[in-house]
Amino acid sequence: MSDLRELYQQLIIDHGRSPRNFAELPAPARQKQGFNPLCGDQLQLYVLEQDGVVQDVKFKGTGCAISMASASMMTEAVKGKSVAEAKELFDRFHDMVTNKDAVEDLGKLAVLAGVREFPSRVKCATLAWHTLNAVLHEDDGVVSTE
Ligand code: ZN
Repeated sequence: MSDLRELYQQLIIDHGRSPRNFAELPAPARQKQGFNPLCGDQLQLYVLEQDGVVQDVKFKGTGCAISMASASMMTEAVKGKSVAEAKELFDRFHDMVTNKDAVEDLGKLAVLAGVREFPSRVKCATLAWHTLNAVLHEDDGVVSTE
């Protein structure tokens, strides 16, 4: 188990240091800013959606290793997925990091499941996902007051 934990840590450090898809996307990509005041993480997320598919997704930002690694892995996970699949993945990821009884198998994303032991870190891990969810829901014309 300690070897596995070490591997997980390596993955998070690797993605945190060298985030994937770390760039801006020009219009018509939509963009949204995400901010986690608890930790100071902030990012700008760019999503190019066409025909109900997430064609491309990139981000720029600054923050702790968990927030950057999570954003990096999120972009890899949702790129090429349909909007419906991406929303479903958001729900499953959110469940994985907030619900101790969750038995989600999310592949590489599972390295972030450990944050549920550290409630203050959950917002770091979910920041990019909440921002993605906000971008994708704009398309539905639904305005949330939350
Ligand atoms: Zn953070």
